[in-house]
Amino acid sequence: MSGNQDLLQRSLRSVWHPCTQMKHHERYPLVPIARGEGAWLFDSEGKGYLDAVSSWWVNLFGHNQPVIKEAIKAQLDQLEHVMLAGFTHEPVVALSEQLSALTGLGHAFYGSDGASATEIALKMSFHYWRNIGQPEKTKFISLQNSYHGETLGALSVTDVAIFKDTYAPLILQSAQMPSPDSRLAEAGESAEAYALRCAEALEAYVAEHHATLAAFIIEPLVQGAAGMAMYHPVYLQRAREVCSRYQVHLIADEIAVGFGRTGTLFACEQAGEKVSEIADFICLSKGITGGYLPLSVVLTTDDVYQAFYHDQTVKGFLHSHSYTGNPLACSAALATLQLFAASDVLGQNRETAQTLLSAVEHYDFAMQHVRQRGMITAFEVVTQNPQFARDCYAAALKHGLLLRPIGNTVYWMPPYCLTQSDQQHLVEATRAAVMESM
Ligand SMILES: *Cc1c(COP(=O)(O)O)cnc(C)c1O
Repeated sequence: MSGNQDLLQRSLRSVWHPCTQMKHHERYPLVPIARGEGAWLFDSEGKGYLDAVSSWWVNLFGHNQPVIKEAIKAQLDQLEHVMLAGFTHEPVVALSEQLSALTGLGHAFYGSDGASATEIALKMSFHYWRNIGQPEKTKFISLQNSYHGETLGALSVTDVAIFKDTYAPLILQSAQMPSPDSRLAEAGESAEAYALRCAEALEAYVAEHHATLAAFIIEPLVQGAAGMAMYHPVYLQRAREVCSRYQVHLIADEIAVGFGRTGTLFACEQAGEKVSEIADFICLSKGITGGYLPLSVVLTTDDVYQAFYHDQTVKGFLHSHSYTGNPLACSAALATLQLFAASDVLGQNRETAQTLLSAVEHYDFAMQHVRQRGMITAFEVVTQNPQFARDCYAAALKHGLLLRPIGNTVYWMPPYCLTQSDQQHLVEATRAAVMESM
């Protein structure tokens, strides 16, 4: 038995894989990965797969990235971990200072993954209104087709049926506002006009319900799990105005879109000069450590922070996670920010994105809604194959490509280190995989 085969058998016996009907692995084999380099993953026999989805949107600068790797190694010689209640350390302070300067939101609360950041933001907003004497503001709203994570609290503002419906009896009620997804515009209606129309619907709802609303949580510019639904930034500006007018918090979930994915460091910067002009809270995770270690953070305003600052213990935010502010993860995040500072990453990404977009526009199979926002490129394949996503995923693997279509939506969210030959492979292998699975 080859090394690969042995690993597959052991994995199926002992590991319960995420987001997977395990029985499907009777027909679709697991992919055993031994190492990574740049945009590529390799199995133990040396077969390579170009990572077109940055391993679920986390791996920002490629695998085996020397700067991040060295930063973690250096931190490892100093301090691997210390609890953050009652203690502090240089990496968490430096990271908080830098994120605060970049976003304009000055208080950083840490978690270990995206869903816990969502939970933290929701609880903080709810608790804020209680602390300032408006305890009736207890409800949350989100967008149709939104995704904010899958723990019970996060799931209550997520709107993806396949993740949510089974657990409906367990979760909080929340209302979903019309999505400004520009694919939903009427014929002849611009993305901007449609976004404005959705903002009016938001305002009508908030005007009626604001007395009981704590916060509106939103994925800025791109709703990732919905199938890379993209919308016009004017929606964010209007949402901010509505939230300010009616005293409702705006939570920007930039877990997927933060750190340059949409072409600016944070997506909110396409609607306001700084994140703080748009959001009361920002949730960050995924790319924050370049895909090296689990870390999330919620940044918020002085106003929110001050509402918890009190002699009474219970007015404080007593939430905690064991690995809060882990020094190794913070050092990986600092190295990630250093990579942005060291070269014109966003400018180089603009060139890569342009090349990728024109390649998609030259594809000769039936497709719709070709769209791009920064380093996220997507389109829908027109096909009658009900298993398109799974077949295309399997076909792509044969061609040395990790691609995970969502329904009929094929998307690329690659690491920022694609070489020209990587780009060519991405374009050609995607074309072959789509043609074989239509
Ligand atoms: C991935 C994601 C989350 C959840 O993050 P996890 O680390 O998977 O819990 C939340 N919101 C958005 C927008 C995401 O893409």
